[in-house]
Amino acid sequence: MNEEMLRQYARLVIHIGVNLQKGQPLVIASPVDCAFFARLLVSEAYRAGAKDVILNWRDDHCVREHWLRADDCLFDNVYPWDALQKNTLAREGAAYIGISATDPENLKGVDPERLRRWEVATGRDLKEFNRLQMNNGFPWCVVSIPIASWARKVFPDRTDNEAVEMLWAEIFKSVRITYNGEAIKEGDAVQEWRTHCDRLKSRAKKLNTFNFKSLHYTNALGTDLTVEMPVDHIWMAAEESSAAGVSFVANMPTEEIFSAPLRDSANGVLVASKPLVLNGNIVDGIRLVFEKGRIVEVHADSGEETLLAAVNVDEGSHFLGEIALVPYDSPISSSGILFYNTLFDENAACHFAFGEAYPGCIRGGDKMSVDELIARGINAESTTHVDFMVGTEDLSIVGTTHDGRQVPVFENGKFAF
Ligand code: ZN
Ligand code: ZN
Repeated sequence: MNEEMLRQYARLVIHIGVNLQKGQPLVIASPVDCAFFARLLVSEAYRAGAKDVILNWRDDHCVREHWLRADDCLFDNVYPWDALQKNTLAREGAAYIGISATDPENLKGVDPERLRRWEVATGRDLKEFNRLQMNNGFPWCVVSIPIASWARKVFPDRTDNEAVEMLWAEIFKSVRITYNGEAIKEGDAVQEWRTHCDRLKSRAKKLNTFNFKSLHYTNALGTDLTVEMPVDHIWMAAEESSAAGVSFVANMPTEEIFSAPLRDSANGVLVASKPLVLNGNIVDGIRLVFEKGRIVEVHADSGEETLLAAVNVDEGSHFLGEIALVPYDSPISSSGILFYNTLFDENAACHFAFGEAYPGCIRGGDKMSVDELIARGINAESTTHVDFMVGTEDLSIVGTTHDGRQVPVFENGKFAF
């Protein structure tokens, strides 16, 4: 990692990530260990004309202590001032940057019931914030930088310093700051991103012209699932547009093309192909059985309690809300690294999410009420949204069109067109 690459990264997050506009407030949620990077973001944001930059600091150690030892009544309500800050800034259209960097097992041993109760509390008290985030009321971007506890998990047989350096190298590669290990020229990273976004969007366009009625997933791991798509679904990728009409990139890196399935349509079995970091715990060996869209069986070889708590948050968390395609030969997947961080792992494999769908996956959905979205058949009402990876080297997906044509979408883990 060098200073210039870090600065390029900060510029990318501000100008392509949230695409900060003059006079716009910015909120940065950052681990204290990442303060040096948060400072670069702050400088870059003010240079871009930010109205104000608000920092929400957190720390793995303090968070863990809170979850283990804080008074039990705290897990049923968000502090009113905290909710006020989030909801007000979201309404104002502030930009949000989240730095995702945590020990994947930071909450190991915490009562899953507390985590479930908190999920319900945030769903209720931050309803406005969550709704505005889901339908792009404000621009937001999740990015990562390495911290030692996380890097150690990714590269367990290295020293802390080596592991952190190796994770930096992977992150810079995945966000197109480096190419073949060399720094991309000043300014070229932004151009490189635009090209990357266009590539993803043209593939999404092809999927949209098929307008599939249903998709059938199979692989040797045991996945065998049919899922239907709403008539006016949209496959989206890379860039989204905020309520103010400004395009932004919600995830850096991003490799996925995603949409929302019909809520009550999934039948069959999904077997996860990677462990999932969920609420500070690792859940491995996931197997979910679906009947008429609803999850009727939940299994995990480890972390099952954590998974069950997440599936049982509310009624909507029992149904799929996202369907996403990522070929097995995509750059992050090709690295062969398990990142223990959903931002990277979901961009390395086909995945689904249970819980709330993104309204923008339905034509005109961003402007629809929850009732209208429900009438269109998507999973529009849940507090939660949990991605889990199912893509493998041998994944096959066959699409069926409304006139009954069968079209191979994925063959051997890759796009078939
Ligand atoms: Zn996704
Ligand atoms: Zn998702």
